[in-house]
Amino acid sequence: MRFLGQSGFHLSKGGTSVLIDPFDSKSGEVDGEVIYCTHCHPDHVGGIPSFMERNPDAILMTNEQVAGKFKQFSDRTVIARDEESYKHGDWEFQFIAAKHGILRDLNIGVIVRNGDETFGHVGDTITFEGFISAMVDTIAVPITGILTTSPSQAITELKKFQPHPQTVVVMHWAFRNPKSFCRRLSVELPNVKCIVPKKGELIPL
Ligand SMILES: [Zn+2]
Repeated sequence: MRFLGQSGFHLSKGGTSVLIDPFDSKSGEVDGEVIYCTHCHPDHVGGIPSFMERNPDAILMTNEQVAGKFKQFSDRTVIARDEESYKHGDWEFQFIAAKHGILRDLNIGVIVRNGDETFGHVGDTITFEGFISAMVDTIAVPITGILTTSPSQAITELKKFQPHPQTVVVMHWAFRNPKSFCRRLSVELPNVKCIVPKKGELIPL
């Protein structure tokens, strides 16, 4: 899995790939079968056009609010609804609504499974509620605050998980200090590995 900056991730396995929340057209310039976007804000959908044009058979999987903004791809769009799931090749997607802070736009997080690998992406949310009992190995969490969980709120939410994820990847940190978040998390949950990804870095799943 490669980190693309902000909340963007590119997951690859067995010659197929899934792109999640690309923030700009450059991060959409990757190969893949599926693009998933959690919500309609520019920093999560910026790579949709470049990805869909580059991959003419790919599908856009996203909630109805995002789909409404990208009607030009409606014949290749799958609507993601809370508590539903979808299978595409070896990839399985489980959709989990999670509350966006302040703006209240519809945010639907996702758990992506392929074989024994499980990756959770909560999008921009102030609660990880639907993810707590979902058995995710690796989860990406935002720490900006206000629009999303702050560092303290993210730690409080992660402590509720049963079982705890093995790995937490920090994303969407803006002016926050992601390294200090990981230090605080490792005090509270010493068995959980916390990663501050560099843009372009490959993270093992
Ligand atoms: Zn955002």
